[in-house]
Amino acid sequence: TSFEGFTNASDRDYAIERQRTAAQTALQTVRDRLGKTYLPIIDDRPVQTEEYIESVNPANSAQVVGKIGLASIEQADAAVKSAKNAWTTWKQLSARHRGDILRKAADLMEAQRDELTAWITWEVAKPIREGDAEVSEAIDFCRYYAREMERLESGVQRNLPGEDNTYIYQPRGVVVVISPWNFPLAIALGMSVAAIAAGNTVILKPAEQSSVIGAKIAEILHAAGLPPGVFTYLPAKGSTVGAHLVKHPDVHLIAFTGSQQVGCQIVAEAAILRPKQKHMKRVIAEMGGKNGIIIDESADLDQAVVGVMNSTFGFAGQKCSACSRAIVLAPVYDNFLDRLVAATRSLKVGAAHHADTKLSAVIDAAAQANIQRYIEIGKESAKLALSMPVPEGGYYVSPTIFSEVDPDSTIAQEEIFGPVLAVIKAENFDEALEIANGTNFALTGGLYSRTPSHIDRAYREFEVGNLYINRGITGALVDRHPFGGFKLSGVGSKAGGRDYLLQFLEPRSITENT
Ligand code: NAP
Repeated sequence: TSFEGFTNASDRDYAIERQRTAAQTALQTVRDRLGKTYLPIIDDRPVQTEEYIESVNPANSAQVVGKIGLASIEQADAAVKSAKNAWTTWKQLSARHRGDILRKAADLMEAQRDELTAWITWEVAKPIREGDAEVSEAIDFCRYYAREMERLESGVQRNLPGEDNTYIYQPRGVVVVISPWNFPLAIALGMSVAAIAAGNTVILKPAEQSSVIGAKIAEILHAAGLPPGVFTYLPAKGSTVGAHLVKHPDVHLIAFTGSQQVGCQIVAEAAILRPKQKHMKRVIAEMGGKNGIIIDESADLDQAVVGVMNSTFGFAGQKCSACSRAIVLAPVYDNFLDRLVAATRSLKVGAAHHADTKLSAVIDAAAQANIQRYIEIGKESAKLALSMPVPEGGYYVSPTIFSEVDPDSTIAQEEIFGPVLAVIKAENFDEALEIANGTNFALTGGLYSRTPSHIDRAYREFEVGNLYINRGITGALVDRHPFGGFKLSGVGSKAGGRDYLLQFLEPRSITENT
């Protein structure tokens, strides 16, 4: 391709005092704005709702971040109608025109980067540094997909004497985006702007726990100049209104990121042809992981300890890419474990808005109880190597390390989605690979090694969508590290990669006898 390399947005550098102060000021400014009410926005107009929920700061559950009006089934139907109408004109605009709006959205996010980070920090208790990286990712998605669509729009021309052949892409129609709370800005916005860049119209149903950030996305896209109906902000209950949208005959595509359970349900429901439906639906479903890092006997343990620790405990383990299994070769097992436990003990657990916090509370009471349940299961089947005191007043869970974990046991097989690590011993590299591949998931994985033959084998045999060698396994960058898994980790092409937009497009081939 003749496209030049993509430049990722730069994160803040909090070593610079001015940037540190700006972040703290933004946290204060946003704190003063907490507690407002957010309503669904259909055709650019807020609509009143009968049901409301409160979104709270997980690290201080008494602090209400926003009150959210939940859309009804009728309002969801109105949203589909609006999106369907808007599509008739939106699909006709050039990729350049649509891309310019998304680039404007990216610029607006750059301009209010610290405030967006603050909203993320207050609403989902994500430490500032990681919230800031998420804002960068959101900015990248806008610029990347805008540009990708310009590349694809030109299509392919193949002309022979007497015959002109044109291969082009056209948008599909109404897209429902159903997003998780763990990357409340980047994932919700990323899936939405991909669909929009490709000429579709979008209804975003954000996760309930991060609906305020969903409203921020609506504000940004509106300010960037998206016409009414192209993007609908529809906070609602997933199990009822989300499920209804999935079944709606006028919806063409569902872009989902979340749990395996819900993803599988969506795939099944979307496969059923409904009355008045004139197309088969497509589903993109990015789901969970049980990601492992192998540490072999030649690994640089200084590097491996820090990489495993950060990959496991960053954002309290609530990343789909997070490490939850360390698979360590017997000769270095004890040494690695001792050093990992000591290093983890020094992590600062606290409110997410404090600059030195490494991990904060988990998203809500249900998640806290679920993770605690897994910790209890772990205590019965493995050895508790680390548990730490945590603050009160929020949904905190202790960073927890289990050693001597059986690779087939529950805590080594099921996604816990919290700050819990299973350390597993392998006798040799063959066994390590077998353990690493021995789950239903294939999302991220890592290897710390200085043995070329092991690295070679990992390239070929480690079954994951994103493999990282001699580095941590989280923090994928748009374009550089296109992201997504296979097996039960998902169906769909990689987000932030060259195939992603193709899913939102219908290819057409036109032959003209000349
Ligand atoms: P979740 O419980 O599956 O919820 C995701 C979304 O689905 C929410 O908006 C939810 O709405 C909605 N929903 C729930 N039931 C539904 C139904 N029956 N029909 C339609 N929509 C429904 O997942 P989560 O707890 O937010 O996110 C954590 C999970 O996401 C983890 O498994 C993680 O691994 C995965 N994840 C994967 C990736 C990836 O790229 N592979 C990235 C991030 C996260 P409500 O909020 O109203 O319930």
